Amino acid sequence: MIEVEQLVKRYGARTALNGISFHAKQGEIVGLLGANGAGKTTTMRILTGFMPPTSGSVRLNGIDISVDPFAVRQQVGYMPERVPVYPDMTVQGFVLFWARLRGAAQPMQAVETVLAQFNLLDRRHHLVRSLSKGLRQRLGLAQALVHQPAIVILDEPTIGIDPRQVIEVREAIHALKAQHTVLFSSHILSEVEQVCDRVVILHEGRVVAEGTPAELSTRLRTKKEARLEDVYLALTQ
Ligand code: ATP
Repeated sequence: MIEVEQLVKRYGARTALNGISFHAKQGEIVGLLGANGAGKTTTMRILTGFMPPTSGSVRLNGIDISVDPFAVRQQVGYMPERVPVYPDMTVQGFVLFWARLRGAAQPMQAVETVLAQFNLLDRRHHLVRSLSKGLRQRLGLAQALVHQPAIVILDEPTIGIDPRQVIEVREAIHALKAQHTVLFSSHILSEVEQVCDRVVILHEGRVVAEGTPAELSTRLRTKKEARLEDVYLALTQ
């Protein structure tokens, strides 16, 4: 579903991605784990067609993004780290706006579906500016999912929200796997361990490990109880 091969991105003299490769199968939740500056956002921006790579290839649902970027965008729902909301729109108006932009066949019905999915129906007539940060993240998820994309890409979806809302957003992400392939980034180890089927660890623009949380833990099982945390620290020293 997601195939990334030898992706390189240079910003002038700075190499942000240095030949990364990874994949995600249909219905998997894959976590991109890495410290600040590891290259997570750059990877996601390339996958969503926001900017081209310097070299390398990306195929989403079998389509090469360099060959047909518009077709790829139909397949992808993207929630950036800071959800670009319009504060003076209502919740319903904002999601409807995105449904129409993305060419949903029955936009109002699509809006109803995602507002119900993310528990926003009772706020549908509220102004976006009145929402808490956690509710805005759920609105971001609704916006990303309104055209029912096969692939959902979420950049640090739980950053800056309180613990209860973190749990709600994680549960919402987990529920997506029934119908979507999910790639999400985080630098919170426990979150990745809880939510993901597989983890790709990025460090300074390279993939330093890939596998299930359990596989990654056993790779370093010199001690009996190696945790993902131990693996991460060892690989990113
Ligand atoms: P964070 O968790 O802080 O968002 P990240 O893993 O998402 O980090 P990126 O934002 O992809 O990392 O950045 C990777 C590297 O590329 C960093 O060294 C960053 O400074 C650099 N970089 C990112 N965007 C640009 C840009 N527009 N111009 C120049 N350098 C950039």
